[in-house]
Amino acid sequence: MPELPEVETIARGLSKRVTGDVIESVWLGQKKEPLKTPADVMAAALEQTRISAVRRMGKHIVFDLDRLESAPRMASSANGKRQDHALRKRPRANPAALKQQANRGVPGTRAQWIVHLGMTGRLQVCDPRAEVEKHTHAVVKLRSGREVRFVDPRRFGRLSVATSAGFDATGIEPLEVDVETFIHLFRGRRTPIKSALLNQKLLRGVGNIYADESLFRAGIRPRRRASSITRDQLAKLRQAVKQVLQEAIALGGSSISDYVDADGAEGFFQLQHRVYGREGEPCLICKTGIRRMVIAGRSSHYCPRCQR
Ligand SMILES: [Zn+2]
Repeated sequence: MPELPEVETIARGLSKRVTGDVIESVWLGQKKEPLKTPADVMAAALEQTRISAVRRMGKHIVFDLDRLESAPRMASSANGKRQDHALRKRPRANPAALKQQANRGVPGTRAQWIVHLGMTGRLQVCDPRAEVEKHTHAVVKLRSGREVRFVDPRRFGRLSVATSAGFDATGIEPLEVDVETFIHLFRGRRTPIKSALLNQKLLRGVGNIYADESLFRAGIRPRRRASSITRDQLAKLRQAVKQVLQEAIALGGSSISDYVDADGAEGFFQLQHRVYGREGEPCLICKTGIRRMVIAGRSSHYCPRCQR
């Protein structure tokens, strides 16, 4: 499963390649699972828009889309205006309103295409002549002649569209959270700190590997109750989380799973894990054997001496 640093790397790669390009047409496959928004609604929302940005939110990749002035799907003006007015009163669009709005095609409206890669999802930017891989669920044709393709053999990935209200991932960005907010998030919790770090409603996008690595750097055992951790230790943990994620982003995400970067090139450099996946191997600091335990169904790796 791609974690935050991989998703950040992929989003940056996509941003470099497709920002400013225009989506001319969209093909969506027959499989239902990847589509959280109905195919016709998604296609209508994407076609004839300019990609103004590609960025990461949590573990989602968000394409910001601006509808073009010359949109051929533009609805008749009187009808369009009335719907626009009705929608403004209801910013949280229900599916019917979403459909109306997506199909409306009014110039200047904004939408977002949201991609979650799941376990095995990949986004490729490629030449249209490149062979279409098995398990391709979406092909987005760009004005530049290239295509963005979504390929996902196991189909845990998700594609959706958000309109005017905008996409709102839960939780707080771990790279942006300040000390007080971080302490406030974890201070009162009775769950193990490892579970709290993985709770996407608190911080978004911190996965298993980076949670273990952060706890090691902060000297905190994964099973410790969050509520028993001091403010100073929490401040240290926040630093560790940021550091670990930033180092991994600098390396291009660690290569654990089956995905490729936006060019389709395989292989990221791997952050050297200090505890993750090193059960039985000596701690890099004190030489004690690294231990593994299961917390909330996930493997946790730690040094029994360096982490308390
Ligand atoms: Zn140690």
